[in-house]
Amino acid sequence: MKICRSISEIKQFRQSLEENGVKNVGFVPTMGALHEGHLSLINQAVSQNEAMVVSIFVNPTQFLPNEDLAAYPRKEAADLAMCETAGVAAVFLPQAEEIYSDDEPKILASKRLSSLFEGASRAGHFDGVCAVLTKLFSLIRPSKAYFGKKDAQQVAVVQNLVARLFLPLEIVPCELVRAKDGLALSSRNAYLSSEEREVALSLSRALKEAAQLVARGVTDAQSLNEKMSQILAAAGAQKDYTAVVDREFNELSHAKLHETILLIAARVGKTRLIDNLWI
Ligand code: AMP
Repeated sequence: MKICRSISEIKQFRQSLEENGVKNVGFVPTMGALHEGHLSLINQAVSQNEAMVVSIFVNPTQFLPNEDLAAYPRKEAADLAMCETAGVAAVFLPQAEEIYSDDEPKILASKRLSSLFEGASRAGHFDGVCAVLTKLFSLIRPSKAYFGKKDAQQVAVVQNLVARLFLPLEIVPCELVRAKDGLALSSRNAYLSSEEREVALSLSRALKEAAQLVARGVTDAQSLNEKMSQILAAAGAQKDYTAVVDREFNELSHAKLHETILLIAARVGKTRLIDNLWI
C-alpha cells in the first residue's frame, strides 16, 4: 500500500495507475479515526474497482469556528493498518497547508441544501465539504466515490456538486452501519462517556419508534416529530432538530413508505450527533 503525504506523491501514484492501464479507480474520502462504518465503504469500493484510494484529512474548512477541529480524534497508525488489511492501493494524507492557500476560488454547496437542517445548523459546513472534495476528486480522478448514508444530506450535496460541475465520476451511496445496540457508528462516538453513550442510544430509538408509528399508519410529520422529540428529551439528549423529509430533503407533511428519511440531530453532553432512517 502506498502512503502519499504530498500532492506530488498522490499525483505520481495516480499517474502510475494510468500508465498501468488501471481504468476503475474507487475513492473513499474520510477524516480518519476509521471504524466499521468507514470499513464497509472501503470494502465495497475495493470489491468494485481495480484500485482503491482512501483519503484521511481532517478538513479545516468544514468545521465551524466553535467546533471540534483541534479535538477531532486522530488514529493514523490504526487507520493505515485497517486500510492495508482491506486491500487499499493508496492512502492520501495531505497537510492543510498544501491543500489550501490564502487565495482560493470559491466553491459553494447548493444554496437550497445549505439552508436546511445540517446546512442551517452548521453554516458553511457543506461549502467546506464541496471545496475539499472538488480538490480531492481532481487529484485522485476516481471513477466512483463512496459516501455513507450516515451523512444523508452530505450525499445529496455531493450528488448536486458532481452533477452541476459535470464531474466525470459516479457517487455511490452506502448503507449506514450501526453498533449492535443501534448507535450509528461515528468517529465522534469516541467523545461519549459510558453514561452519555446510553443517552445517545435515544437517537436510534427515536427513529425506530417513529418508523414503527408509520408502519401502524401514523404518518403525519407532527406526530412523528413529537414522538422523536419526546424520546430524546426523556433520555436527556438536547434536540437540534428532527424532521420528516423526502429523498431530496423537502419537508413532508406526511411520511410515505419508500420515499421518506427521518432525520435527527441532537447534542449529548458536548457531543453533537446525527442519525437518520430511510423508510
Ligand atoms: P467521516 O470520516 O466522518 O468524514 O466519514 C467518511 C465517510 O464515511 C462518509 O461518507 C460518511 O458518511 C461515512 N460513514 C461514517 N460513519 C458511517 C456509518 N456509521 N455508516 C456508513 N457510513 C459511514
